[in-house]
Amino acid sequence: MNVAAGWRVARLVGVHDETATARTLVLDVPGWPGHLGGQHVDLQLTAEDGYQAQRSYSLAAPAKGDRIELTVQRVPDGEVSPYLTEVLTIGDPIEVRGPVGGWFVWRPADPAPVLLLAGGAGIVPLMAMVRARRAEASRTPFRLIYSLRTPGDLYYGEELRRPGPGDAGADATLLYTRTAPPGSPRPSRRLSTEDVERYGWPPDFEPTCYVCGPTGFVEAAADMLTKLGHDPRRVRTERFGPSGG
Ligand SMILES: Cc1cc2nc3c(=O)[nH]c(=O)nc-3n(C[C@H](O)[C@H](O)[C@H](O)COP(=O)(O)OP(=O)(O)OC[C@H]3O[C@@H](n4cnc5c(N)ncnc54)[C@H](O)[C@@H]3O)c2cc1C
Repeated sequence: MNVAAGWRVARLVGVHDETATARTLVLDVPGWPGHLGGQHVDLQLTAEDGYQAQRSYSLAAPAKGDRIELTVQRVPDGEVSPYLTEVLTIGDPIEVRGPVGGWFVWRPADPAPVLLLAGGAGIVPLMAMVRARRAEASRTPFRLIYSLRTPGDLYYGEELRRPGPGDAGADATLLYTRTAPPGSPRPSRRLSTEDVERYGWPPDFEPTCYVCGPTGFVEAAADMLTKLGHDPRRVRTERFGPSGG
């Protein structure tokens, strides 16, 4: 493989399915320098005729040595995500560049409380922050609000439903938009300002807010935070929209 500057050749060393349409990939990236929760990588695929496609994917967990984890949601008519979730096989090489990003990150030394708002696959970098908090034995107060369509769309279900001792002070609320689990006190509906007020931190607590998901979700949720009185300078957003914009 002819590798341009800044790119490393990684190898797929593990996979596990999070849902019927999302898969976690474990990549071995020789010389990986480490990263912060919230950062992402660029992946590059090169076809035999030289055609190349690049996409960004958030890092889902702190690195373990040279190993990194990504979780990819399959977009049915997509160019890259079906390949990553259905074709890429253990042992296969893939080009990786990163870590990328310096604003949408959580630094364990930052004492501010944290409010995480995830829409669908937007949980990925926010879970990396929750996992980094656990790995660092941090006691920073965290609250996660995770908006998803149905129980079958839940990523990291075991970890979120059964938090361990290292997760004390990090609370997660799951809110369903299409089908809530039986007996759920809240009917399925889109995230509302009332939800953010009820399950988040009050603005006078001055949390750093991280919002991630599809563009529409991010814009709506960031709006709710500002309406509730959160300082926009403490609201950090990451959009998973098709253009990345
Ligand atoms: C910083 C950053 C981090 C990201 N992290 C992740 C991540 O952790 N996990 C993850 O699964 N994705 C993530 N994404 C999205 C990812 O980069 C791709 O956009 C996504 O996998 C679709 O690529 P594709 O080649 O399969 O689809 P494309 O060939 O690019 O698009 C095919 C069709 O699907 C539509 N489409 C493209 N993307 C989406 C989408 N996200 N939702 C709905 N429709 C879409 C397009 O408009 C088009 O019609 C991230 C994006 C950014 C910018």
